[in-house]
Amino acid sequence: MQLLTIIGGGIAGCLAAWQAAEAGYQVRLYEPKRLGAEASGLALGVLVPSTSARPLDDLQRAGCAAWESLAPRLAELSGTHLPQLYRVWPRGGQLNLAVMFGALEKALLQLGVEIVTQHARAPATTGLTLWAAGWENRAVLPDLTIRAGVACRLAPCGLNDLLVGMGPGVQGIYAVPAWDGSVLLGSQKLPGDELYVGAVPTETLAELRSRAARLLAPLGTAEVLEAWVGNRPTSIPRLPLLRPVGAQAWAVAGLGGLGYALAPVVAQEFLAAISATRSGHSQP
Ligand SMILES: Cc1cc2nc3c(=O)[nH]c(=O)nc-3n(C[C@H](O)[C@H](O)[C@H](O)COP(=O)(O)OP(=O)(O)OC[C@H]3O[C@@H](n4cnc5c(N)ncnc54)[C@H](O)[C@@H]3O)c2cc1C
Repeated sequence: MQLLTIIGGGIAGCLAAWQAAEAGYQVRLYEPKRLGAEASGLALGVLVPSTSARPLDDLQRAGCAAWESLAPRLAELSGTHLPQLYRVWPRGGQLNLAVMFGALEKALLQLGVEIVTQHARAPATTGLTLWAAGWENRAVLPDLTIRAGVACRLAPCGLNDLLVGMGPGVQGIYAVPAWDGSVLLGSQKLPGDELYVGAVPTETLAELRSRAARLLAPLGTAEVLEAWVGNRPTSIPRLPLLRPVGAQAWAVAGLGGLGYALAPVVAQEFLAAISATRSGHSQP
């Protein structure tokens, strides 16, 4: 079996590890913290089939469609009850991130993926490699930028559907009920392209809620139970999502605010790239 090294255990690294293990690769996944420790664990898990212009739009749709079979398979492999992991809305879908990475870890181990967490950083590698280190992919992709995103959890306020803001003033706002009845609201961009750490600025949270209130008035007044910020890896231009960075190495080129919808597509592209390399049909 050919060894494949994956650097980073966010949604991009985990899905690539899963698909590659099922395709017969020996997969070693390096993650210094825990699976879903960064942007992937701080997201809402919303699967939005369409928010932007083609061709990204088509990839989003393909990724959302892929989850229709990935989610039941993940539930089966990890012994998770599917309705606790995934649900479909009239305008999209949603993954329950509170159970997602536990399920992924079980599934990956079951498929024989070696998950290495002892190392602070993945070692230098010369074999088949995927860089899926989120914003830390800047180490191999100098044009990668960071767009910090903000989210909060609100007390239950009568929201029983996925709301996606696409009109003027509500661009990119998602509001979705969590599995426990609270409401997840995100993801307002923080200004600037720098890594953001610390508390969510009061004015940013207020702006997020005021935009959301244009979608549904109670979102502007419901109690905020918690608020957080995560650093989304973004690149402009967005495509290609997967870029060669060495003879046998590729990097995920910035999933931005759409990582859950796009990760299955990147995993498929990656598998196609490494199998083409292995059979000698193309050189990256
Ligand atoms: C508030 C917020 C809400 C969001 N909501 C949604 C949503 O509803 N739907 C959606 O599709 N997207 C959403 N996103 C975007 C989504 O979270 C990201 O696009 C996606 O998580 C990026 O995944 P990733 O695997 O590329 O990166 P990450 O999740 O950042 O994973 C990278 C991993 O690599 C590890 N790592 C870093 N350096 C190294 C190294 N040298 N060696 C080994 N490991 C390393 C890190 O510890 C980390 O675990 C949201 C983002 C935020 C911040």
